[in-house]
Amino acid sequence: MTSLLEPVGQKKFLKKLLAWYKKNGRHDMPWRTSKNPYAVFVSEFMLQQTTVATVRPYFDRFMKKFPTVKSLADADLNDVLALWSGLGYYARARNLWSAMRAILADFRGKIPSDLKILATLPGVGPYTAGAVASFGFNRPAAVLDGNVARLFMRLLAIEDDPKLKAVQVILKKLGLDLTDGNRSKKGGPRDINLALMDVGATVCVAQNPKCGECPVAEFCLAKYHNRQNDIPLRGEKPDRPTIRRLFGIVEWDGKRLMGQRPKEGLFGGLWEFLGVDAPSGVDPIEQLEKGIQREIGFKIRVKEALPAFEHQLSHRIFVVRPFICEPLTTGPDLIPEKGKIYERFRWVSIANLSRLGLSSITSRILAALQSEKF
Ligand code: SF4
Repeated sequence: MTSLLEPVGQKKFLKKLLAWYKKNGRHDMPWRTSKNPYAVFVSEFMLQQTTVATVRPYFDRFMKKFPTVKSLADADLNDVLALWSGLGYYARARNLWSAMRAILADFRGKIPSDLKILATLPGVGPYTAGAVASFGFNRPAAVLDGNVARLFMRLLAIEDDPKLKAVQVILKKLGLDLTDGNRSKKGGPRDINLALMDVGATVCVAQNPKCGECPVAEFCLAKYHNRQNDIPLRGEKPDRPTIRRLFGIVEWDGKRLMGQRPKEGLFGGLWEFLGVDAPSGVDPIEQLEKGIQREIGFKIRVKEALPAFEHQLSHRIFVVRPFICEPLTTGPDLIPEKGKIYERFRWVSIANLSRLGLSSITSRILAALQSEKF
């Protein structure tokens, strides 16, 4: 077998890989048609934990509204979150906005190409730094997303936990070796990394890799030893905690009372109907009325209970129970001060609700209210 750890083997490997990529690569993604580092930056933030199909429309809308580093850095964070609404993992939107502000302030709006400098920006880890350097500037870098890491583990038949530091060092070195010094007319670091990602995503898939269609099968030690289905090792998924949360849709004069979460933490900076945690065994109506009163400083009353639903995030499950409520005091000055859960409050007309950056749970409640599913 040709060894992938030797320069001669790497050269042959790249020849096969790039020939496959030319014919079979996913060239139609909007962020790939441009080599603009800003577009790469935005797409990489959006693609973290999210599928290509979901990201596509968000990316197009986002680039239309914020086409440059400066336009995003100068934007109000609420407008950025509103455009991100529904994409989830909102810390990414806040970090992207903060990173653009830092680039505008410290680098005159020019995205740096150096891996070490990129890694100092908010929300930029080794993967994103490598992706921006490689895709945006065609610089050598290891771009180890989950698919590439799995591909490398199989090529080298590494039967260890992929999270081990020693394993990470080997994978990173292979990524760098393949992209460093292997520039040619056929493809530089950018094409090499994109090709690796595409083989990982479409051929060397997690379950039942398609070894018969694999352009680099002759270099694969896992296939040679018939171990491709056992690599990488799979750990047990930890159980997700379940959280019961009550939401009050407080209505008055054609408007609904919305609370904005603090910037830090889950759903940071997003707007919600007013939510209160409900330990098991408590009376939900009493808990909600008292909890909301504590938060906003005046009494409300539950008018109607709506059907409960389950809302799953990657790390927890919410059991959501929404209730229509009304305030017992009314008046134009009824805007609560900062509470313990929410940083600020606003009465918002029903027509304007969808213009806010809403948490995913509130978006679901709103969608169900609008489609009269309740
Ligand atoms: Fe993956 Fe199979 Fe190709 Fe090896 S031969 S890299 S296991 S698809």
